Amino acid sequence: MPGLGELVTVLEGWFDPRWAESWDAVGLVCGDPAEPVERVLLAVDPVPATVSEAIDVGAQLLITHHPLLLTGVHGVPADDPKGGLVHRMIRNHVAHYVAHTNADVARPGVSDALAELLGLADVRPLDAQDEEALDKLVVFAPHADAERLVDALDAAGAGRLGDYDRCAWTTDGTGTFRPLDGANPTIGRAGEIERVAETRIEMVVPRRVRAEVVAALRSVHPYEEPAFDLLHMAAIPGRRGTGRVGELRATVPLREFVATAAAALPRTEWGVRAAGDPDRPIHTVAVCGGSGASHVEDARRAGADAFLTADLKHHPAVEAVTELGEGAMALVDAAHWATEAPWLDTVAAALRERFGTTVDVRVSRQVTDPWTLHVPSPPK
Ligand SMILES: [Zn+2]
Repeated sequence: MPGLGELVTVLEGWFDPRWAESWDAVGLVCGDPAEPVERVLLAVDPVPATVSEAIDVGAQLLITHHPLLLTGVHGVPADDPKGGLVHRMIRNHVAHYVAHTNADVARPGVSDALAELLGLADVRPLDAQDEEALDKLVVFAPHADAERLVDALDAAGAGRLGDYDRCAWTTDGTGTFRPLDGANPTIGRAGEIERVAETRIEMVVPRRVRAEVVAALRSVHPYEEPAFDLLHMAAIPGRRGTGRVGELRATVPLREFVATAAAALPRTEWGVRAAGDPDRPIHTVAVCGGSGASHVEDARRAGADAFLTADLKHHPAVEAVTELGEGAMALVDAAHWATEAPWLDTVAAALRERFGTTVDVRVSRQVTDPWTLHVPSPPK
C-alpha cells in the first residue's frame, strides 16, 4: 500500500505543478504524505457531495480537477463553507489533491480525454505551451578538468534532454590569456602570454537553475576567471498546451456532430447546444475542456469547423457565427462538468496501471454540474 507522498509524486510526474497558470492553486490541499492510501476517489468538483462520497466509500484521498481554495485564504474555520469541507476531510482522514490547469496542458490531459471521446484523430494542442525555457552554457576549461566540470554542471541541473542527463558537447582547442599584475593565475605568470590546451564544453541549462549552474561552474573551474558564455535560447512550441484540435473520421453536418457529442459526453441537464448553420460540414474539430471562450480565435486559426467547449457567452457567440457570415466556425457549448469528467477515467486507468491492486481507484459518478433544469421553450 503506497503512502500519500508516493501518490503525490506520481501525480506530479503526470501533472507537473510548474505547468499550472500563475493564478491557479494546485497540489495537496490537506493530508499527511506519510499516511498510507488504499482507496482513491476522483471527482471534478470538491463539493459537499463528493467529499461525503469520499468519506462514505472509505477513501483516504480525494483527487479533484477544480481547486477548493482558489482565492487567497488566511484561515479554514469550520463554519465557512470551504473551511468546513477542509475540517470534514481532515477529521475523516481524507487527503485532498488538485490537478487543474497543470492537467489541462498535460499530455495526456483533460482535453485529450474529451477529444478521444469525440473520436478525434491526429490530435494536437490548440494553444501550445512553449517548451521549458533553456539557456546554452559554453565554457572553456583545461583538458584535465573537463570531465570533472561536466560532472559538476550535471549535478547542478545542466545537460538534461528528455530521458537523458549529463548531455554535453566537447571540442578541443587552444585558449590564450595574459595574467595582469595582481592576478593569481592557476597556469602561467603575470605579464606573460600563455597558451593552454583547453576543452570547449556546451550544455543546455534550464533557466530556472541558471544561478545554481553558474555557481557550480565557478566553484569547480580551476581558473580565477573562468571564460564562459550563457546564451538565451529561443522559445520552442512544445507538445503540451491548452485545448486540442483534431479530425473526425468522416465529415458530418453540424446537427449530427452535436447529436453525437451529446450522446458521447457524460449526461447533464444542460446537454449540448450549438451556434451556426446546422448543415455546416464538420471535419476539423477543436475542443477545450472547461471554460474555453478565450480560445475561440485559436480554434479559428487552427482551421476548425467547430469548437466545442463550455461557458460560451452571447456576444462572442454572435460575433463568431453571425458577423463572420457563411462558412464561419460553429460554436458548440457543452456543460462545463461534462467536458472535464471524461479526464477522471483516464487518470483512474493510469493510477490502476501504476499501483495495480495495492490501491482501489474509483471515479465519482455524481453529476456536480450546478444546472439541474433545462427546459426548451415550447412551440408558440
Ligand atoms: Zn473546469
